[in-house]
Amino acid sequence: MPPPTALMVSRVEHQRSRQLIRDSKVLIAHAQELIRQSRLTIGQQTYLQIVCAWCQQTVRWQRAEGAARGQISHSICFDCFAPVFRELDPVNAPSPISMQVK
Ligand SMILES: [Zn+2]
Repeated sequence: MPPPTALMVSRVEHQRSRQLIRDSKVLIAHAQELIRQSRLTIGQQTYLQIVCAWCQQTVRWQRAEGAARGQISHSICFDCFAPVFRELDPVNAPSPISMQVK
């Protein structure tokens, strides 16, 4: 087999370049589709704002699929929890007599 001439090498390299360009275009199209799907997924993710029902401060944000944008749910923050917890203590509860309807 004779050694490749400059023209043959050039043709082989040219074909290789064209193949690389074709492969690159396929990879770019695949990457663009992945980016499109990622943007769609990010757009569909919404966050539920969890607000303290006592002081109205935002406690946290919670990712929630199916939640409407701007939707709020309620919980209790740590600062409000301690006094409310003390109120729930049976020692602090009003006596049954004071709760009777006259
Ligand atoms: Zn609070």
